Amino acid sequence: MRSVVEAVAPFRQTQLVLAVITVLGLALFAVGSAWTAHRVTTPLRALARASERLGRGEFALAVADTGRHDEIGDLARAYDHMRLNITAHGNELRRLAYTDRLTGLPNRARFSDAVRDAMASTPDHALAVLILDLDRFKHVNDVLGYALGDRLLLAVAERLAGDVLRDGDLVARLGGDEFALLLPGAGADAALAVARRIAASFERPLTLDDQRLDLSAGIGIACWPAHAADAGTLLVQAEMAMYVVKRRHEPVLVYDAAMDGRSAQTLSLLSELRQAIDAGELRLYLQPKIALADHRLVGAEALMRWQHPRRGLLPPVDLIQFAEQTGFVRHLTLWIFEETVRHWRALQAFGPLRLSVNLSTRDLLDQELTHKVDTILRRHGVPERGLCLEITESAIMDDPTRAEATLNLLSARGFKLSIDDFGTGYSSLTYLRRLPVNELKIDRSFVMAMAEDDAKIVRSTIDLAHNLGLSVVAEGIEDAPAYARLAALHCDEGQGYHMAKPLAAADFGAWAQDWNRRHGAEVVAAPLAEALA
Ligand code: C2E
Ligand code: CA
Ligand code: CA
Repeated sequence: MRSVVEAVAPFRQTQLVLAVITVLGLALFAVGSAWTAHRVTTPLRALARASERLGRGEFALAVADTGRHDEIGDLARAYDHMRLNITAHGNELRRLAYTDRLTGLPNRARFSDAVRDAMASTPDHALAVLILDLDRFKHVNDVLGYALGDRLLLAVAERLAGDVLRDGDLVARLGGDEFALLLPGAGADAALAVARRIAASFERPLTLDDQRLDLSAGIGIACWPAHAADAGTLLVQAEMAMYVVKRRHEPVLVYDAAMDGRSAQTLSLLSELRQAIDAGELRLYLQPKIALADHRLVGAEALMRWQHPRRGLLPPVDLIQFAEQTGFVRHLTLWIFEETVRHWRALQAFGPLRLSVNLSTRDLLDQELTHKVDTILRRHGVPERGLCLEITESAIMDDPTRAEATLNLLSARGFKLSIDDFGTGYSSLTYLRRLPVNELKIDRSFVMAMAEDDAKIVRSTIDLAHNLGLSVVAEGIEDAPAYARLAALHCDEGQGYHMAKPLAAADFGAWAQDWNRRHGAEVVAAPLAEALA
């Protein structure tokens, strides 16, 4: 009978207490959760930021929270470990990218950087770069083997680093048998003194496996700021001086603008030329050679042209001269050889034709030339006597001993040999007599001057050559009178615009057919062996 309110009052109390406990519990739970979440998410966020930094390649800053003893700590330590590993790996890669594997010296990339840095850090000073290229290194490799070649390079590196350098100097291997020295603060005189020290140090011969090797090298020098404003140009110029040294067989030279005023252009031309071969832009042109006594077509000279994509058909003179300076001419020679030999058989339809190919100095110094040429001839089944090799006098006089050896080798193989541009060099006929040559080509300057002159030079050259048992070719016959005069002087063969300009190989057949028809030549299918004997 009591009131309901009274009856439930104690339960209300309990309900209230329970409610308070629930609220307190919830609050505690919320605070606890928030605290736990904070402890986990903050370091995770830090880790996320760290991985972003790693992603950007910033490896310097250590990862936080590595000291914790929980799973987060494990993760942070793993991250930091990864960071250190990547850094070490990167350093190793950088080291490999900047050092030469064989000698452990800085490589070309590192050397360029060093030159650049030196320029930046000594803006009002000077510095010199020496580039050194060993003589006959290829020969050592070929004859004594690559292992010995490697040891030779190591020994050279040691000598350069040990005997020659002072503090602050840097020696690098640019590749192959090319080394470079950076001399901060040095002018041309100081650089020349270092070059002399190198020469002195190289005077002690090297003994490897009981093989005594004489060291020698060509050295090119360029100075900053006298010769170049930036590191790239400076290196090119030192290299340019080195090439001139090699060509002139001198021990050392300082770059001077006369060597090449257009070195940057030169470099781009070189890479263009490389591409020209690959892209098939070179063309074979053939200029007929005629027997003056009976107007027979007896051969042709292979001449190169460059069908440049923008500049059109380029004549070879600058190209060849440039390629000779850089040593690239060897590739050109092989190209023209391959092309000439490839066309050889088809051209025999117009008579037994001997095709002439020009060789340059560099070719004569190339120990591998005969071998390479052999391979090409064999591939196309062309006999050596079907080809004549034209060599200029100056090419022979550059290094007579070596040239003579190469010429003897080539002649023994059966190639006919011709002295090109005869009369423009300094060789004496008595010297030429020692060489296994078959033909003299009188330079076109004499032939073209014949009209005004009394042709004394031409006449005496022809007589002299005949006395030595050589046949004579006149080049640069530009008109009928010249043709007739040379024929009257018993010059054996002629070549010139009067008969034909150099023709694209594809046009040669039509011209030859026409010539043979006009001169009543019957092309007898005589056995080649006899015809070319
Ligand atoms: P070179 O060996 O004395 O070649 C003869 C040059 O005289 C050719 O010039 C030819 O076009 C030119 N010529 C021929 N007949 C006449 C004429 O009647 N009048 C005049 N004014 N010139 C005439 P080209 O083709 O420009 O070659 C120039 C030089 O470039 C060559 O002189 C040769 O030394 C070099 N050369 C050309 N092709 C090659 C090659 O494949 N290898 C090498 N090493 N040198 C090459
Ligand atoms: Ca020639
Ligand atoms: Ca010539």
